[in-house]
Amino acid sequence: AEPPAVAAVPQSGADGLVLLRRVGVVDPGSLDDYRAHGGYAALRRAFALGPAGVIREVTEAGLVGRGGAAFPTGRKWSATAQQPDHPHYLVCNADESEPGTFKDRVLLEGDPYALIEAMTVAGYATGAHRGYLYLRGEYPRALHRLRTAIDQARARGFLGEDVMGQGFAFDIEIRRGAGAYICGEETAIFNSIEGRRGEPRSKPPFPVEKGLFGKPTAVNNVETLVNVLPILIEGAQAYARTGTDTSTGTKLFCVSGTVARPGVYELPFGATLRELLELAGPPETLRAVLLGGAAGGFVRPDELDVPLTFEGTRAAGTTLGSGVVLVLDDGVELPRVLLRIAEFFRDESCGQCVPCRVGTVRQEEALHRLKDRTGAAAAGDIALLREVGQAMRDASICGLGQTAWNAVESAIDRLGAFK
Ligand code: NAD
Ligand code: SF4
Repeated sequence: AEPPAVAAVPQSGADGLVLLRRVGVVDPGSLDDYRAHGGYAALRRAFALGPAGVIREVTEAGLVGRGGAAFPTGRKWSATAQQPDHPHYLVCNADESEPGTFKDRVLLEGDPYALIEAMTVAGYATGAHRGYLYLRGEYPRALHRLRTAIDQARARGFLGEDVMGQGFAFDIEIRRGAGAYICGEETAIFNSIEGRRGEPRSKPPFPVEKGLFGKPTAVNNVETLVNVLPILIEGAQAYARTGTDTSTGTKLFCVSGTVARPGVYELPFGATLRELLELAGPPETLRAVLLGGAAGGFVRPDELDVPLTFEGTRAAGTTLGSGVVLVLDDGVELPRVLLRIAEFFRDESCGQCVPCRVGTVRQEEALHRLKDRTGAAAAGDIALLREVGQAMRDASICGLGQTAWNAVESAIDRLGAFK
């Protein structure tokens, strides 16, 4: 029996959907329907271009990672493809668990064959014959649909020893996470797949050189991979005409909080936060918008014209991250929001390194004390938060510890929390 339906509703206010164009239109359980809606045209083009040609298109399109870090995908693929050590692996990071992030879920559930096709293209380009799809454990509907899609693709020659009769061997294995946020960190995924504790490894070496089972590995987020299909179908230049010079294409935004129409929105990079909020139905009295998730930063009501691009949000002192747009109205108690974020990081720290293991606890304790304090009474704990936050940022092994103080710092400096 199919697992129960989920509440995520794909929506968009923009004409010309690119990434969501098949979601809600195609039958996610039918390979034939996927093909009838343009499926597998991109892989056919990939075979015509050859691996180097695919990497050239992806590079020229300016595609950067959509998991949050915006690393150039073409550079990652090229570095993996060039490694002399074999075998090469592909890992799709579908362990979407940044608080407020639910965009990949919509793609996984609504257009599963697109991801399978895109992973096959990525494997072809990087010289990998095996792809691992590391799926968030709490996405049962996606699991069901992906399993069905992989089985059908294999039965019909779109996966296996001779993909589309082109002499290229590629197959996909699904591995499920088990609820740990840290298992979405790329090197923790490797440990998890290899049967070890899901703890991050030190980088460098980067996965492109030494990744899964110690072999060259390209790790890509779901949304990043799905972008490769329109790049190959339209061509790099046409793709790059949408967006800005340094943030090309469209982006999925996860809008939640006090808005009238929460959901996933697809907009071209460069649209403003104000335009996105207008689509979602903003609250009457806006307090702030958290961009980029728990590791991101706050935008004030007077800053809504910030362009939703990687460069624009960076200039505004925050990040686009994985596309989180969490809207807070005036009724929200900011100290409680910050405390909830601190609890989350303390809970999800893997405990491997001291600055993060101890720092996230100290941060939460200070925020507990600060719940009812302002002004001079808050000064000591704010100073302590800054010191602990800087230590976590400077000395933690992975992104969790390095960013665990971002939102709290942003609330203090940009929103005047505890003043
Ligand atoms: P990172 O900047 O360390 O790396 C980004 C990617 O680029 C990685 O794949 C890394 O291997 C690669 N890379 C970086 N430098 C390289 C080099 N010199 N050569 C080859 N490859 C290189 O970031 P990260 O720690 O992987 O990810 C942090 C981001 O993840 C944050 O922005 C955060 O918002 C996001 N995140 C997203 C989710 C989610 O659910 N989508 C959850 C948690 C965190
Ligand atoms: Fe683990 Fe935190 Fe260190 Fe990352 S920073 S390795 S989550 S203890």
